[in-house]
Amino acid sequence: MQTLAIVGASLAGISAARAARAQGFAGRLILIGDEPHRPYDRPPLSKDFLAGKIRPEDLSLESPGEGGGPDPLQVEWLLGSAARSLDAASLTVTLDNGTDIKADGVVIATGASARTLPELAGLANVFTLRSLDDAQDLAAELVPGTRLVIIGAGFIGAEVASTARALGAEVTVVCSGTVPLSRPLGTEMAATLAALYGINGVELICDVAVDSYYSGEGVVSGLRLANGRYVPADVVLVAIGAVPNTAWLASSGLELGDGVLCDPMGRTNVPGLVAVGDCAAWLDEESGKHRRVEHWSGAVERPALAVAALLEPGTACQPLNVPYFWSDQYNVRIQFAGDARDADRVEIEAGDPAAHSFLAVYYRGARPVAVLGANQPRLFTKWRRQLNAARAATAAAAQPVPAASASFA
Ligand SMILES: Cc1cc2nc3c(=O)[nH]c(=O)nc-3n(C[C@H](O)[C@H](O)[C@H](O)COP(=O)(O)OP(=O)(O)OC[C@H]3O[C@@H](n4cnc5c(N)ncnc54)[C@H](O)[C@@H]3O)c2cc1C
Repeated sequence: MQTLAIVGASLAGISAARAARAQGFAGRLILIGDEPHRPYDRPPLSKDFLAGKIRPEDLSLESPGEGGGPDPLQVEWLLGSAARSLDAASLTVTLDNGTDIKADGVVIATGASARTLPELAGLANVFTLRSLDDAQDLAAELVPGTRLVIIGAGFIGAEVASTARALGAEVTVVCSGTVPLSRPLGTEMAATLAALYGINGVELICDVAVDSYYSGEGVVSGLRLANGRYVPADVVLVAIGAVPNTAWLASSGLELGDGVLCDPMGRTNVPGLVAVGDCAAWLDEESGKHRRVEHWSGAVERPALAVAALLEPGTACQPLNVPYFWSDQYNVRIQFAGDARDADRVEIEAGDPAAHSFLAVYYRGARPVAVLGANQPRLFTKWRRQLNAARAATAAAAQPVPAASASFA
């Protein structure tokens, strides 16, 4: 392989570049990104960056030496250029400026975009949060007394609610489900953590849909809920999940579903093409389903496997770690590993849920399948290691492993 092109210059993209060099790839390495920025970290965008505690330069994903000085990754950066299409037969990426990039291997790492609400399109005080630019725009609005209404109570909605409240905003969160985060955490533990909203002065309205929005002169002024209640708004954040950035692949011949469909090593249906990070739906062998994992750790760990599969096509599938994510809300660090849907019961192993400092272990029969920590980093790490070790042992014995799936958005 002479030329490796990576499309998407963010966490999964730079992780793939690092993996390629670490695995001995000495050829031409091209990193294509539609944002003008060098790779930066997204998790702080809803936390310390939004709170004004850190600056854009603190978000860099490049290690010293990779950024300003001589580049040990020896990457050719093509930033500010979106890939418009991919010809899978010739492994050629065409950019929106018309440039063709011909490669011997392509890593697709185009991530995901925040889902939007068409009825709010173009309104000046309506935001989503995915990029650095989004975070800068939203941060400018979060002044004391602002009435912020957040549609959606997933992780990003929850974190922005927490950050905005700490900045003095009056925050209302509207959630169509009965309890926020019940899918990733299970209803019982999610309910425990949902108490954090009220304790911290954020109004959480659950189990109700938005009926209509009130707007005029280019801004939204409030919304009417299906139960008749009117909620006024100075600023609205739409936080209803993310969609994979695969539109540019529509005519490529790649198999697409909820993301780029891949085998358990990130290989697509076309030789020489792999997909990683939030845009990729890897096959989970136990369930037989393709699942997209929208977590930071997946975007860091999986590219090494996909790059190995690209550089050495015969590489055998290797076991993945259990899915892991964290979230910071109201001074509580929430950490989760595994899959709550595999469990038939949850036990509190340490601490006190009422105090929001506890460790909960999810079991199927006698077997731990997932672990949740709230302000219990050390104990959580111990349990996470055990889950990973158990999964590796299971895979070694060629037994089925727990399903991997979840979304951060
Ligand atoms: C606000 C926020 C907070 C988060 N917090 C956490 C957290 O606390 N814990 C956690 O586990 N995860 C968190 N996540 C999720 C985590 O950041 C993502 O899983 C991770 O960024 C995925 O990396 P990626 O490189 O696959 O995709 P992305 O980071 O989305 O990067 C994809 C890149 O490709 C670019 N691109 C898209 N289309 C094209 C194209 N056609 N041509 C060229 N470039 C293109 C995009 O603009 C982007 O730069 C958070 C995400 C957000 C947005």
